Amino acid sequence: MPTVVNCPTCKAQVEWTATSKFKPFCSERCKLIDLGDWASEKHAIPVKPEFDAESLDALGYDEADFFKDN
Ligand SMILES: [Zn+2]
Repeated sequence: MPTVVNCPTCKAQVEWTATSKFKPFCSERCKLIDLGDWASEKHAIPVKPEFDAESLDALGYDEADFFKDN
């Protein structure tokens, strides 16, 4: 079974595959909505500058798990 994540914008299930062009979003629309949220500073959660896939690995997460938690 493919890994499935939830679209951060609409929570639709999205297959985490090479062909999922907008992952973790389900569509370009949801991707743009999310970017718009960032631009308007709705996301108040501070992001550590060192936050990246490597630090997630160090904490025992993989990217798919990270997005599921959202
Ligand atoms: Zn969506």
